[in-house]
Amino acid sequence: MIRKAIYPGTFDPVTFGHLDIIKKAKDLFDEIIVTVAVNPTKHPLFTLEERLDLLKKSLHDYENVYVDSFNGLVVDFAREVGAVSIIRGLRAVSDFEYEFQMALMNRKLASEITTVFLIPHEKYTYLNSTIVRNLASLQSDVSDFVPPAVQSAIREKFSK
Ligand code: ADP
Repeated sequence: MIRKAIYPGTFDPVTFGHLDIIKKAKDLFDEIIVTVAVNPTKHPLFTLEERLDLLKKSLHDYENVYVDSFNGLVVDFAREVGAVSIIRGLRAVSDFEYEFQMALMNRKLASEITTVFLIPHEKYTYLNSTIVRNLASLQSDVSDFVPPAVQSAIREKFSK
């Protein structure tokens, strides 16, 4: 039996923090499906297609990692693809409350699916996509925080 996990998020855009979590997760499971949320209430900088494309380019060398999108409940998507786990990253105590609530709700909705929290390397604990977007909008260098494909895409976004 192949043990699959999904890693859901907005990925607007993918950062080295996300990639660090994916690297750790892919050693624990046979297959990881990075799932980009289609959230109509959020107004992302990158379109769904762009976020999927940037993830695919950034995950090019990872054999057991796939990229997909979903619209609706995370647990429904997990069931659809036969995943046993939902991966989430925990950076700091500030992430905990929201993540704890989501994990308990998802367990209530689908008790057979386990949320697994992974902690990134310390150097990524302060990193999130919002900071990267803000830095890039001020023409600051983001090469320490995002893979090369994202670096050029975000530069392009703010050069218009
Ligand atoms: P969401 O909008 O669902 O929080 P994100 O794309 O921002 O989506 O994040 C997806 C997951 O990755 C979340 O579990 C988040 O905590 C985690 N994550 C984001 N940035 C980092 C980071 N720098 N280190 C570790 N985990 C991270």
